[in-house]
Amino acid sequence: MPAEKFEFKTEVNQLLELVIHSLYSHREIFLRELISNASDALDKLRFAALQNKDLLGTDTELRVKIFRDDKAGTLTITDNGIGMTREELAANLGTIAHSGTKDFVERIKKAKDGPELIGQFGVGFYSAFMIADKVTVHAKTADGAAASWISAGQGSFELSESAKTTRGTEIILQLKKDAKEYLDEYTIRQLIKKYSDYVDYPIYMDVEREETPKDKDGKPLENAKPEKKIVEEKLNSQKALWTKNKNEIKPEEYEDFYKHLAHGYDKPLEIIHYTAEGTSEFRALLYIPERAPFDLFTKEHALGLNLYIKRVFIMHDCQKLLPEYLRFLKGVVDSSDLPLNVSREILQEDAQLEKIKKNITKKVLSVLKTMRDKEPEKYLRFYQEFGAALKEGLHYDYENKDALADLLLFTTSRSEKFRSLAEYVKDMPRGQKDIYYLISETRGQALASPHLGVFKTKDYEVLFLHDIVDEFVIPQLHEYQGKKLQAIDKADLELGDKKETENKLKAAAEKFGGLLNDLKAALSNQVQDVRFSARLTDSPCCLAAGADALSPQMLKMFKSMGQEVPEQKKILELNPEHPLIQKLQNAAPEKLGGFAKLLYGQAVIADGGKLDDPLDFAKQLNELLLQATD
Ligand code: ADP
Ligand code: MG
Repeated sequence: MPAEKFEFKTEVNQLLELVIHSLYSHREIFLRELISNASDALDKLRFAALQNKDLLGTDTELRVKIFRDDKAGTLTITDNGIGMTREELAANLGTIAHSGTKDFVERIKKAKDGPELIGQFGVGFYSAFMIADKVTVHAKTADGAAASWISAGQGSFELSESAKTTRGTEIILQLKKDAKEYLDEYTIRQLIKKYSDYVDYPIYMDVEREETPKDKDGKPLENAKPEKKIVEEKLNSQKALWTKNKNEIKPEEYEDFYKHLAHGYDKPLEIIHYTAEGTSEFRALLYIPERAPFDLFTKEHALGLNLYIKRVFIMHDCQKLLPEYLRFLKGVVDSSDLPLNVSREILQEDAQLEKIKKNITKKVLSVLKTMRDKEPEKYLRFYQEFGAALKEGLHYDYENKDALADLLLFTTSRSEKFRSLAEYVKDMPRGQKDIYYLISETRGQALASPHLGVFKTKDYEVLFLHDIVDEFVIPQLHEYQGKKLQAIDKADLELGDKKETENKLKAAAEKFGGLLNDLKAALSNQVQDVRFSARLTDSPCCLAAGADALSPQMLKMFKSMGQEVPEQKKILELNPEHPLIQKLQNAAPEKLGGFAKLLYGQAVIADGGKLDDPLDFAKQLNELLLQATD
């Protein structure tokens, strides 16, 4: 059959234009695209050969090979896959089969980050024209005649006969003047490692090596000069570990891959390897590290999983695959229904990524739940490293709030051992309606809190929280198993019998009304209000926050971020049953100012806050000591 000339379809021209002109900085991806096509062609042959063994003939090692020709200035990529007929060459390399392309091209042209987007999602065969002036394709199917396709990427291509005798496809790239770096052995090696290391077929390249001639026992000959030799080397490791069956993978293989991924030396705490089917099909190999990286709570921490599409590397740290609060996960997602080629709607891809993310989130939470139930010690190790990050999900992931609440652990006023909310609720004494918590920096501080008194008396357990995020996320939980979560240091906390409390406070107000007013006057600069409270037992007084106030931890956090925070005055609560309050009632009026400061000062200290004027506090205290020791 004679040579024939064809015009490219309009959308091909548009795509070519776009690829050549706006993707310049990403042009190295041409190799990824061509290798991926070769790998697809090998997949197709392998599949067809399941039905028809004859297709393989004697050419049974399915492989890709790269040749570099310095003199001719060509880079050639060959595979012995399914090949193409003349008609297929015309159809596959002359049109874009996917209907969304036109829209896509329009959209990308307008978008500022267009190049970025196509760079990430692949541009297919036409990316060859980013680095080549001329592309020649020789192809042959197992039982058909060979044909060739030639184009300079400028509106047309030519089909003719080909002398190719072996099955498969050969793509010869006549490199542009400014693309000669792709003849360099090292450059090609790097690119294969970066983008195609896990391709399932070997990728070979001829390389020149110097070798000293050897004797017949394989020992280097003495005094012999090294000789140049061409040897074939495999460039990829082919280890697409995630595509193998779980029971075929050794623990050390999982670990090696983790080290490769995480660039670290620790071992994974948990390996999650699964296949998702249904609305989105993908394989995921995820690792929970043993230790939290130092930057887990900074912006520098890289969030995301490596995204592959049919074993072809697409991008590192794909953020769309994970919610922030699972940012400690490392791993790989290999999708089989995301298009590698640009020629499909990018928006659709976004929706696909969202589905994958949802699926992964659910999976990870369920693995954690199983770990908590079956391997509590391991779960505790996990929680101590990553619990604080996980908690952020209470704020950001409404859909999984219940699952997340079930995964929370707390030490409590009763126990230094971590407990879950479910355990807490199960042990609630009769009469306790709500779940109580206290946020503080340390356990010691929590135990010393004056707010705890009444809870001890009533034998109500209080959850202790010490993470920076607690103040921010725990209130978002609102309730668990229908029980409200209540911070014990907020004013207006209702406890137990309302009537009884009211009577107590009324009696106190009648008895100590004068004292209350004097203290209010003395402390008007320091506190919002002074009032009696029924919740104190051992301490004479404490500070309580207004119902919507920020805690000392939160204030500290804001200040450390350099944010202005309006001054937050607290409420000084007095214990009408404490002997000190009873005595103060009778104190000499001129002494009351000093006593008020001391009361306030001790409440600030117990609250984990800082004294405004420590020197003055010490002075008042010393005066008191002097009097007492007289
Ligand atoms: P995609 O790979 O997404 O289909 P490409 O632009 O990369 O899009 O390739 C277009 C088509 O050309 C492929 O679908 C395939 O049919 C054909 N093709 C490309 N490279 C090869 C190859 N090495 N062997 C066989 N067919 C190929
Ligand atoms: Mg392709």
